[in-house]
Amino acid sequence: MKEKAEQLGVFGGTFNPVHHGHLILAREAMERLKLDRLLLIPNYRSPLREGEVLAPAADRLAMLRLAVGDEPGLSVSELEVRRAGPSYTVETLEALKSMYPEAELTFLCGADSLNTLDRWVRIERILELARICVLSRPGTEADAAHAALIRRAPGVGNAVQVLSMTRMIDLSATEIRERAAAGQSIRWLVPESVRDYMHAQKLFV
Ligand code: ATP
Repeated sequence: MKEKAEQLGVFGGTFNPVHHGHLILAREAMERLKLDRLLLIPNYRSPLREGEVLAPAADRLAMLRLAVGDEPGLSVSELEVRRAGPSYTVETLEALKSMYPEAELTFLCGADSLNTLDRWVRIERILELARICVLSRPGTEADAAHAALIRRAPGVGNAVQVLSMTRMIDLSATEIRERAAAGQSIRWLVPESVRDYMHAQKLFV
């Protein structure tokens, strides 16, 4: 009998820095979508956010590693950081497909991505390589943004699945960076290990 294909999730982002929103959603998405494994992949540079000043990739990677620790099923991938340059999701998914030819890939992103997905490079190929699952997020009316995407690009909009999360977590890396820069506490917004790392490396101050 043929074995069931491995369900491999991919969660990309700048993770500048990783926060509890990412982690709580990662776990819920894994459970709801029955993923066997989830790779968190920090990008080197986001093609749609050129000019953005990011903490060094090595630091963003280190913070993700500290946050994930030895959590079963979750791991951190250096794929995009090692490739450097703008991190195109299509290239990452092509690489994962050749590394794990038997796996079925699911790409996760937050609802804000509904506003840009139709502009992602080679989105049609992305949709051949992976199912895209969009996670609801405060600040974006997911149903309205999804309907707008379907109107702009029906092939893309109809192919993506919107997952309404049990917990809407109103937290962003932008807020973490702003709080750190203002000398405000970020305790409990990010894992303690990440907070310690940020302090030790004087990130975002
Ligand atoms: P920034 O504030 O710098 O834009 P961010 O908090 O959105 O950062 P990213 O690293 O860009 O974090 O996020 C990676 C992915 O996780 C993106 O697809 C983003 O939409 C999603 N995401 C981040 N935070 C949340 C959240 N609180 N709820 C739902 N999705 C989220």
